[in-house]
Amino acid sequence: MKLYGHFAGLEEQFPIAMRNVVCGAECGAGWFVLCMDLIRLCDERGVEVSQIKQKFGELRFYVGEAPSEVHEAIRIATEKSKTICEECGRPGRLAGKHWIATLCDEHRGGGL
Ligand SMILES: [Zn+2]
Repeated sequence: MKLYGHFAGLEEQFPIAMRNVVCGAECGAGWFVLCMDLIRLCDERGVEVSQIKQKFGELRFYVGEAPSEVHEAIRIATEKSKTICEECGRPGRLAGKHWIATLCDEHRGGGL
């Protein structure tokens, strides 16, 4: 699958990890660093990423067959994502009634 957005071109940089992202990869710029650390680790360990997305305000990072070390790194990144604004990477918290997201004060705006 061709990757778009922040993840465009990563299939060339990380040919093992990103060669078979069947369900796509997307998340806000604020979480990109978290994702990059995981992608780098997966590539080094020969693990294929299957999907990256946001769900219920936290990062969801799905992989194929992987050692426990990789699953642990994903668990930690998922925990961190709950405290980082998905848009800008500053400290954030879970917000929203209809569309739940983890955002900082600025990106949460007044309405939520
Ligand atoms: Zn923000």
